[in-house]
Amino acid sequence: MKILLAGYNIDRDLIEQLKRGETVDEGALTPETISAAYARISRNPADVNILREKSRAAVEKARKSNEQIVFGLGHASVAEHACFNFDVIGVSRLAIEYLEHFRLASYTEKSQRYIKIEDDGLIPEEFSDEPFRGEFLTLVKEQNAFYRRAFEEIEKALLKNGDCAKDASLKAREDARYALPLAIRGQLGMTVNGRTLENMIQKLQAAPLAEVREMGRQLFARCGKLVPSLVKYTEPDSYHLNQGKLINALPSVSGNGKQAAGQGAVALLTHSPNPDNSILTTLIFNKLPLSFEDAGEAVREMTVKQKKELFLELFRDMNSYHSVSRVFENTEFTFEIMLSATAFAQLKRHRMGTLLIQPYLTELGVTIPETMVAAGVETAYFDLVRKVNRVYSRLAEKNTDAAPYCLTNGHRRRVIFKLNARELYHFVRLRADEHAQWDIRSIAAEVMALVKEVAPFTFMLASGKHEFQETKKQVFLNE
Ligand SMILES: Cc1cc2nc3c(=O)[nH]c(=O)nc-3n(C[C@H](O)[C@H](O)[C@H](O)COP(=O)(O)OP(=O)(O)OC[C@H]3O[C@@H](n4cnc5c(N)ncnc54)[C@H](O)[C@@H]3O)c2cc1C
Repeated sequence: MKILLAGYNIDRDLIEQLKRGETVDEGALTPETISAAYARISRNPADVNILREKSRAAVEKARKSNEQIVFGLGHASVAEHACFNFDVIGVSRLAIEYLEHFRLASYTEKSQRYIKIEDDGLIPEEFSDEPFRGEFLTLVKEQNAFYRRAFEEIEKALLKNGDCAKDASLKAREDARYALPLAIRGQLGMTVNGRTLENMIQKLQAAPLAEVREMGRQLFARCGKLVPSLVKYTEPDSYHLNQGKLINALPSVSGNGKQAAGQGAVALLTHSPNPDNSILTTLIFNKLPLSFEDAGEAVREMTVKQKKELFLELFRDMNSYHSVSRVFENTEFTFEIMLSATAFAQLKRHRMGTLLIQPYLTELGVTIPETMVAAGVETAYFDLVRKVNRVYSRLAEKNTDAAPYCLTNGHRRRVIFKLNARELYHFVRLRADEHAQWDIRSIAAEVMALVKEVAPFTFMLASGKHEFQETKKQVFLNE
């Protein structure tokens, strides 16, 4: 693993000084001076650029002021004005799940969909002793060998079926990876502000996996000396460290193995009562000087036709690149979703909802791409999965948190995904779109069908981006 600090923000006046060849105190090349200047805005009437100048001229004073304001007063948002870019290289897919758990940061990650995987993956520190090391290594070698074979067989079958070479290669890469273990290394670029970074480092260092703790240590090593007044409390305390032990306090219960009500992988658990009315009530509240109660009464008195017409007005000038109105945020939906590691890798990137995850469970089976079936490698895939499950059970006896390193991208978990109607529109547009990967696309289609049932007006324009114009045409056809 290698984590590099790729960039951070410093005062532009310093950049100009450097460009002019003037000497600049090295200590001033820190985002802390900007945070300190902005922190002073609330109590100092001077123009902000003057406050920045003062901060630049007295960096130690700026640091003291940051410490007092961020940590003393708890005015922690000041640390958000410091911004960092990190190169995160050679970390496993499993560790990336821990990193991308943090919502208030930006990630762009190497895609196993577009890039053929040549790396065999890491050997987790938790299994560095024999016999676990040997067992783990043998298994991941087999998984990688199967990946290469499945890639060839899928590509061959698709070419035979008339796909062009480019499409066949892309689909083969996209689907053969369902056999790859979560130990495969990836890389990403991450942009994060000082406040989230501190929280991230503290929690990563409390994680059960050695690789994830190392990630936290390296992040701190790259920024700690640069911004000591903003990223300071990074040692995990007992609150963070003991989260994992909560499981011991839970009652001992076993389920019947059934999914929550629902035909497919997605179940709609709860939603705001009468979502269509809820959106209109919020709209009226937002536009007219009425209490929420009175706005609700006004909506209850409307006919179905009037409600539909109001929704049409809301949508009239909307295009596929417009967000739906903010009033949609007051109406929420909670889903239970069973999904593969591949689909999860994509779902977790939607940062504006609440995502609560269970561990991967071998009892939930695996997701198999149709192309594997068509290429005749289905039986071999299931043989491989059975072997993976056996090794997983042995590894789990040593370390339950690290055992998932050997699970495949096809293994499944359950999650709770809660989001408001505005974010749902965004999610469906991206993930039910023709460019979306088939696994997450099928989840988005189920989500869309479920919400259209309970909120037909609210979601009348919900569709993948590619279908937006046609959907809109149909909706306005009989107006
Ligand atoms: C076809 C496809 C291919 C993809 N390929 C890759 C890939 O190869 N590699 C990869 O890393 N990712 C890939 N992604 C994931 C993609 O980059 C997004 O991370 C993911 O779709 C989540 O969507 P989002 O960022 O729009 O918003 P969400 O996180 O769902 O947030 C919703 C909205 O909130 C706003 N928002 C949220 N956070 C911020 C922020 N920090 N700053 C400003 N606005 C914000 C934006 O308006 C955003 O649209 C792919 C996605 C698709 C659909």
